[in-house]
Parts: sequence; structure tokens; C-alpha cells
Amino acid sequence: RSDVPALLHDVFGFPAFRGVQQQVVSRIMAGQPTLAIMPTGAGKSLCYQLPAVALEGCCVVISPLIALMHDQLRAAQAVGIRAASLTSVDSDWRETQDRLRNGDLDLLYVAPERASGEGFRSLLRATKLALFAIDEAHCVSEWGHDFRPDYRLLRPLLDEFPDVPRLALTATADHHTREDILVQLGIPHDGMIIAGFDRPNIRYAVHPRDGLPRQLSDLIAAREGPGIVYAPTRAATERLAETLTRTGRPTRAYHAGLDPAVRAANQAAFISSEDMVMVATIAFGMGIDKPDVRFVAHAALPKSIEGYYQESGRAGRDGEPAEAHLFWGADDFARARQRIGELDPSRQQGERTRITALGGLVETGSCRRAILLRHFGEDPPASCGNCDNCLNPPASIDATETARKFLSAVYRTGQSFGVGHIEQVLTGAVTDRIRERGHDKISVYGIVRGEEISLLRPVSRALIVKDALQTNEHGGLELGLNARPILRGEEDVSLVLPPRKQRRRRNARNG
Ligand code: ADP
Ligand code: ZN
Repeated sequence: RSDVPALLHDVFGFPAFRGVQQQVVSRIMAGQPTLAIMPTGAGKSLCYQLPAVALEGCCVVISPLIALMHDQLRAAQAVGIRAASLTSVDSDWRETQDRLRNGDLDLLYVAPERASGEGFRSLLRATKLALFAIDEAHCVSEWGHDFRPDYRLLRPLLDEFPDVPRLALTATADHHTREDILVQLGIPHDGMIIAGFDRPNIRYAVHPRDGLPRQLSDLIAAREGPGIVYAPTRAATERLAETLTRTGRPTRAYHAGLDPAVRAANQAAFISSEDMVMVATIAFGMGIDKPDVRFVAHAALPKSIEGYYQESGRAGRDGEPAEAHLFWGADDFARARQRIGELDPSRQQGERTRITALGGLVETGSCRRAILLRHFGEDPPASCGNCDNCLNPPASIDATETARKFLSAVYRTGQSFGVGHIEQVLTGAVTDRIRERGHDKISVYGIVRGEEISLLRPVSRALIVKDALQTNEHGGLELGLNARPILRGEEDVSLVLPPRKQRRRRNARNG
């Protein structure tokens, strides 16, 4: 129909393509199967919407969430694209089906379970098709963080229409997931296009949790502009929102359990606010376009590096300086690993890899951004100059001896006591429990003294992150999968000391 640059300008109102958009669009216009890996905000929708307008026939978009679908549908209709959706909440099915058959639609949004059904397939046989766009394509992979079995049923549909090009899109794909998407959706290796993931204006910082309400209150008090605090549960969301209101900031909560009207009102208030803090579960943020979010804080460990990148990436979409803060505790890792144990065995390895990757991010003494970008397959410089570790390099010390003492105390006390008891045994405390159990008679009793005592907490944390220690359902510590090499002296444990602690130590020495 019309030429591509003219459509870009006339229909979408953009002067030029951004990043890899042009590359992706030209492949689709040439009918080549493509996997586009683009970070959130990079402009994925244009990659199928523009071909949908330019090519003859309808573009079928498969998308996993009805809410997301309807946002995109409205945006497409707003620029004059002939678009519709077929979902359980649409009432105009008849009309949509007629428009489809008559060639009156550029774009049709459907959910994967619908797309794979026989009724839908026979409808498509009677339709001129331009393109299949598979949004959130990582859902097809069991490696992905958001596996949806329905996505596995798409392949037969795609294969039934071999002449229709397919475009898979995702923001969130580690190496395994990418390979899996290519295989599952039948896209050749050279059809993979990866956009740059770096968000240079976001400053990353990671902190062990240590009085979270105070940590967050301090953070918020020292910053201006709108912010999002991600909390792990609905209850935590409401609790934290109440605490943070006391900072004087307008604060709202958002989670899927709230009344829909309240949720919508809170979201609208946040979007139009210049200083509000939204305390939310990760249900908040998808499809929300607020460019001036100045900080995103995670109150607990996210589900994966992908999830973290995506959630923290909601800061600073306008390109102005923004911050991402991650607060974590060893119990986050312990709980995550317990949950893995309850999963179907086929999914355990993938989840374990995800937790290990997060361990690398929180434990590192070097550049956080480099860790993130390497995770997405990039080859970043060793130092970014805009993360906590680059700005304030932490000291790292060898804590192998202390780690070994800790592990043997866990072992010798029968692998059922919590951190507190192990610390008491190691430091030679006198308690009823220690005497009753005879723990004052074992060889590790009282072998940690002086300065080394301050290492016990960070060491136990590091051992849990490394999966050298596990916690049972009662909070008791057991040796984990990675305890052996440390106990045998085959592996060292180094500790990164947060800058504040270093200062205290220096002061202690000087004074
Ligand atoms: P994604 O789905 O990758 O997160 P979207 O498709 O929602 O991203 O696009 C993000 C924002 O970028 C939208 O506001 C969109 O209008 C804008 N955008 C997309 N392409 C361009 C472009 N070529 N030039 C300017 N803005 C663009
Ligand atoms: Zn850095």
C-alpha cells in the first residue's frame, strides 16, 4: 500500500525508527520469520503494527493478558488502525468475524488458548493473513519466567499457514529462553534480532535488608519525584504503604486483591502525580506508560533477573537520571529455594538457575550493570560508573575460614538449629539450650572471637545465597548442595563488605 517511512510518519507520528525497529520491520516486510528481543519501552508494538498497516491482510497478535491486549487495542485504534480483539470480555464477536473475513481488519488481538482452537483456525482459513505476531514470546518456554502451556499449542497454527511470516517479541529472554523460543516457534537462528538492553540513566544499587521500613523511609525522604516500591505480597504492600505515608509523601497501594475501582483510582492518581510513591505487587506496571518515575525500589528479591530488569526499567523512561534499589535478605533465597523443591522436577533446574543468577547480582563486589547486561547476552565494559559498586567500590575479604566454622557448627549440632543458635555456639554463649543439648562440649563451641564475630551474619547470608546452607520449614539450617566443596577446602568464600561497614571498621581502627 503506502511506503514504510511515510506510514511511520503519517500513521504513527514518529519521525524515525528507533533502535532495531527498522531491521525488524524490513524482515517482516520481506516475509522472514523473526524473533525480536527488545527491552520494555523500546517500541515493540510498532514492529508488528506498522507491517499490519503496510501489508495486505490481517495481522493476528497473540498476547497473554486481556488487560494488556485492550490497552494496545485502544492505542492502535487511536491512531486509526482497524483493530479488534476476540476475548471472553468482548461482545462484538459476530462483527469482528465478519470484518476479518471481509478484509476490514489490520490487527486482531487474541489470547493463546483461543488462537490454538479449531474454531479460530477455520476462521483464519477464510481470512487473508499478513502476519502472526507472538507477543511476550518467552511464555512459550519452560525456561522462561512465565511459562504458559497454551503457547505450546501455537506451533501447529503457525505451521498451518507456512506463507504467513511470524514475528515473536519479548523483552525478557536469557540465553536458554531465547534458544527455546526459536525452536518452539520455528524461527531460524539468524532471525534473532537483539536490541541494546542498557539503561544508562538508571543508577543501580543493592542493599541487604536491615530494618526495611526505615531503609525505605530514608530512601524516599532523600528523593524527589514519583517512585514505585515493589513488595512481595499484598499484605506487605498495604503495611509498607501505611508506614511510608509517614514520610509525608502521598502514598498509595496497588495489588490484584484491591477493589477494581480503588485500583484504577490509585493508578490514575499515580500517573498524574509528580511526587507519589506507589507501593505495589508486580501486578502494577504492565502497560503503564509513566515516563517520569524517578526511582523503583524492590522490598524483596525479584523472581528473576529478567523480572528485575523489567520492573526496575519502569524508572527513568524519559531518559533523565533515575534510580533502582534492591533490598534483599537471605530468607528471600531460602524461601525461593524451598518453593523450587515443591515444583514439578522438570522446572526445578530452570528456577534454580534463575535464583543463582540473582545471587550473583546481589553478592557481587563489581559492576551491577555489567551483571545485568551480561545476563542478556551483551559484552559490557567491566565498570559502568553509575551503580553502587562502581561509585563506591566495596572491599572484599576472604571469609573462607569463618564459613567453614559456620558450616561445621551446623553439621555438628545436627542440622536443625537456626542462625541465632549457631552463632551462640560459635561465640561460646552460655544458654540453657546450649547446655541441655551439650553443644558446649562440641569442638566448634566458642571458636569464633573478636572481630570475626561481626562476620558471622554476612557469612551465613552468603552461604544461603550460595546454596551452601538451606533452611528447613522451621527455620533450621541444613547443609545445602554447595556445602561440600567449601568444607573440603576446594572452594573459597569471599565477602563483600558494604561501604558503611568499612567506614565503621576504619573509624574503629582510627579511634
Ligand atoms: P514496548 O512494547 O517495547 O514496551 P511500546 O511499543 O509500548 O514498547 O512503545 C513504548 C513507547 O515508545 C510508546 O510510547 C511508543 O509510542 C513509543 N515509540 C515507539 N516507537 C517509536 C519511535 N520510532 N519513535 C518515537 N517513539 C516511539
Ligand atoms: Zn557499575
